[in-house]
Amino acid sequence: MTRLNRPAIFVVESNPGPLELIQQELHKRYAADYNIHYAALPFEALATLSTLREAGAPVATILASCWLEGMGGETFLQLARHLHPQARRVLLTTRGDKSVAQTIIHASAIGTIDAYSSKPLGAADEDFHIVVSQMLHDWVAENRPPYIVARIVGDQWSRRSHELRDLCKRNSLTFEFYDTDSAEGRSLLEESGCPAGPLPVVLLADGQALTDPSNIELAEALDRASIADITGPLPEGVVDVVIVGAGPAGLSAAVYGASEGLSTLVVERVAIGGQAGMSSRIRNYMGFPMGISGGELASRAYWQAWLFGTDFTFGREVAELEVQGDERVLRLADGGEVRARAVILAMGVSYRRLGIQALDELIGAGVFYGSASAEAVAMKGQKVFVLGAGNSAGQAALHLARFAEDVTVLVRADSLLPSMSEYLIREIESTPNVRVRTNTEVVGGGGSYRLEQLVLERNGTRETVPAHALFVLIGATPHTEWLPETVCRTEEGYIVTGRELLEDETPPTEWPLERRPYLLETSIPGVFAAGDVRHGSLKRVASAVGEGSTAITFVHRYLAGD
Ligand SMILES: Cc1cc2nc3c(=O)[nH]c(=O)nc-3n(C[C@H](O)[C@H](O)[C@H](O)COP(=O)(O)OP(=O)(O)OC[C@H]3O[C@@H](n4cnc5c(N)ncnc54)[C@H](O)[C@@H]3O)c2cc1C
Repeated sequence: MTRLNRPAIFVVESNPGPLELIQQELHKRYAADYNIHYAALPFEALATLSTLREAGAPVATILASCWLEGMGGETFLQLARHLHPQARRVLLTTRGDKSVAQTIIHASAIGTIDAYSSKPLGAADEDFHIVVSQMLHDWVAENRPPYIVARIVGDQWSRRSHELRDLCKRNSLTFEFYDTDSAEGRSLLEESGCPAGPLPVVLLADGQALTDPSNIELAEALDRASIADITGPLPEGVVDVVIVGAGPAGLSAAVYGASEGLSTLVVERVAIGGQAGMSSRIRNYMGFPMGISGGELASRAYWQAWLFGTDFTFGREVAELEVQGDERVLRLADGGEVRARAVILAMGVSYRRLGIQALDELIGAGVFYGSASAEAVAMKGQKVFVLGAGNSAGQAALHLARFAEDVTVLVRADSLLPSMSEYLIREIESTPNVRVRTNTEVVGGGGSYRLEQLVLERNGTRETVPAHALFVLIGATPHTEWLPETVCRTEEGYIVTGRELLEDETPPTEWPLERRPYLLETSIPGVFAAGDVRHGSLKRVASAVGEGSTAITFVHRYLAGD
């Protein structure tokens, strides 16, 4: 039975034998929850996809054979992408057919396909099903979460509304957002018992209503409701190693620390994943040939570390570090305190501000720093700008393009080439609703309550353009301002470690021991730094992960020897 509001799986295969087998396999597994459409000819398939689009019927995944009558599968998927940009696209190949390798490499490099799979060879071909299931999982995660943990009512364009959406998204908490002006928003406010706010109001699945909650208040309420074990109690004794930050470096240190028998605590002020958690697809991390979303990678690492026995506490910010004999004491912004034998600083970096007051006043109200993933769905049909020329700007633009009407990447230089990976540039070039404006700077902008326009300057000429959102991704600064003077840092704030502490050109530090500092050790013995926060780090997920695990090796050595 076809119901328009059910998502669709769409298959195009011109060869009757494989088509019949695909039909049988998909029908057995997915017919109860999805509408399944089949077509033999690509033009016929495009016409049906177009009709579905006009009817507003969601398409979750499109599978197309490499060889179709009258058109290659890659070309077909490229055309289908215009009609249903959110659908996951899979190229179907014949097992063992090496002649399609170049097509797959090209199609994946320019973002035409999300995955490829061999056509099923017989019943219950799990290799085929795992690809289909993964595509449906990814689509559902973005478009139709199975249950809602939190409903947030607030002003769509207020900074705190944005922060709460971001917090939920990055903690994998499914949420819905309602503007205060909407009928649903008003009715939820009545239901909450606090119609006058203060806003935003968060209604949790167990009925709790929180008015303008802080991160820690929200985390504690989620714990009370047994929805998510986010805050966790602080340990009372001395922990072997405390890790500050749950980005890739911190998570990796947690996995290795706990699995190697150290009592391990991670303190994170926002959510797992750090910057990587904002990335819609990390394509250069080993072991994931078609890429993996940063959120998914972080979530897997979190569960791995947790299963080895790591304790986590989220929504808490470390604000002070003090040395008391053999113990390293970390004080938290909310007043708590943890004592450790060793510490790993993995606080990463955050995006540099634009420094234009009119725009900084609109942060969360159309101006966003770094995170594009929490806002992407809200950008449906909007004119969106991305400022920056690095890989994170490229990824944000491509992710936003799935939802926004058009995306303009603003670049100060005359090309993306020196700063962005070639695969992203190619993907941007082949995405119809993304364009790049080079030699362009943002010099102003504004709007009443939310961003409405930007002032751009190109070769001395200024132009005001209508804009619904600006995502700023223009380089980063490390989160080290809270550390004591005794932690040696560069002028920009990056932490100096290891042998560099003894080199002349670094700022003068007293290394207090006779032994030389271990690799990744800071100027305080027993305090290590890993990932982007460290001077000389490579600013990659893989290197942050490598440094997190390496730091644990030296924590062992420090604990054994000092
Ligand atoms: C949008 C985007 C896309 C990217 N794509 C790629 C990619 O495709 N491939 C790639 O290799 N790299 C990519 N990167 C870079 C990569 O994500 C970073 O190099 C990596 O995340 C660094 O890891 P980290 O653990 O050192 O720091 P971070 O990821 O920055 O994590 C640091 C964590 O520490 C927390 N923290 C900070 N201060 C405190 C404190 N005082 N108390 C408690 N917690 C604190 C922060 O909240 C954060 O969660 C991308 C980055 C971005 C932003």
